[in-house]
Amino acid sequence: MSEKTFLITGVSSGLGLALARAALEAGHRVIGTVRQPAALRTFEALSPGRAHGVMLDVGQADLVAPVLDDAINRLGPVDVLVNNAGYGHEGLFEESPLEHMRQQFEVNLFGAAAVMQALVPHFRRQRGGHILNITSMGGTITMPGVSYYCASKFALEGLTAALRQELAPFNVHVTAVAPGSFRTDWAGRSMQRSARSIADYDSLFDPIRAARQAKSGKQLGDPAKAAQAILHIIEAPEPPAQILLGSDALDLVREHLHQRLAEIDQWQALTRSTDG
Ligand code: NAP
Repeated sequence: MSEKTFLITGVSSGLGLALARAALEAGHRVIGTVRQPAALRTFEALSPGRAHGVMLDVGQADLVAPVLDDAINRLGPVDVLVNNAGYGHEGLFEESPLEHMRQQFEVNLFGAAAVMQALVPHFRRQRGGHILNITSMGGTITMPGVSYYCASKFALEGLTAALRQELAPFNVHVTAVAPGSFRTDWAGRSMQRSARSIADYDSLFDPIRAARQAKSGKQLGDPAKAAQAILHIIEAPEPPAQILLGSDALDLVREHLHQRLAEIDQWQALTRSTDG
């Protein structure tokens, strides 16, 4: 394993922090983005001289390029970009203001895109690098009550897959990392929950919201093990287009894809009927 420089967005908690820790322990350098000065100090204390904190809110897309260009000028070229910063919006579509959807996309999609726009020219010129976008199983399957979140992660999956094809000629790998449920702050302090207002949805949605709150902090997935799996992908000679993390993601996504294929087969005569 050669020493690499990672750029990881959102290293204050959860998957980003676990990955930063694992990368530092494996001997890599990590530039980690945070939003609070206290988080920056805590992050740099993980490994003084090899853990470099940068203040960045990825939801402010116009600030991303100048901040990251400055970081690369000061700290040198990056080998691995991990677009991890993101959060979950929970709320029924009919009850959730469009503004909440815009915020969700500003961070989960446009934030990740802005970070990639800053890094892709470096990767292309250096003819090497690896971009890993943390999507979600909710970027392939859907659940009621997280339509804005799923929409943002479906979009990030699509962006990731197309970018993979564009950057392949330059020896730049692009991978979507799609976790199931992990023990992080995602469903706790980080989640934005739209208020309830329509009683018609009570029986569908109230149990879902209550179950997610009750499960927060007790999810199946271990972030430290996710970090080891991501390091494994980074060392692979031919990294996959998408890697699912967690047996919940594996079961749900596999079942969904089987159902989709069965439906495509069921309707194929009608599908073919439109050919000219
Ligand atoms: P987390 O513990 O809440 O961590 C989220 C990280 O993202 C924090 O460092 C947070 O920083 C940062 N962040 C949020 N909004 C940001 C913004 N506008 N600009 C910069 N940083 C921002 O949750 P997590 O589970 O580790 O989430 C990491 C990624 O995994 C997210 O993209 C999430 O959607 C994805 N994911 C999580 C799960 C899961 O079950 N945990 C499943 C699938 C996908 P602050 O401390 O400043 O808020």
